[in-house]
Amino acid sequence: MTCIFCQIIQGEMPGDIVLQNEYITAFRDINPAAPKHILIVPNKHIASTEDLHRHDSIIASELLLAIKDVSSLENISQNGYRIISNCGSHGRQEVQHLHIHVLGGAPMKYGLG
Ligand code: AMP
Repeated sequence: MTCIFCQIIQGEMPGDIVLQNEYITAFRDINPAAPKHILIVPNKHIASTEDLHRHDSIIASELLLAIKDVSSLENISQNGYRIISNCGSHGRQEVQHLHIHVLGGAPMKYGLG
């Protein structure tokens, strides 16, 4: 079965893409948990942070650097935001393609659990 995030990256499935470059794609979460909720994903299929290796260090750095690009595009740089990456069953990862959630546009609730 093809990964839904790979399909969005390749334009085979509709996605509200806000940013795309050689390494990463950022698109709006279909079920937003905040006024601004963007997912940043590597274009290469990497299942989770557990599958991210040092030979993909450019991808890792591009994922992190894209956060600031997205915050700027979404006008949430000044007030801030929260970033989350769920991993595996205890992390309640639903889509098995590494992604960073960028949540902003309103104050987050306290706590992380
Ligand atoms: P996670 O629980 O960290 O794996 O989060 C997966 C996220 O992907 C959830 O917030 C979903 O709402 C989101 N999602 C699932 N399918 C799509 C889709 N087709 N387009 C955009 N976001 C999606």
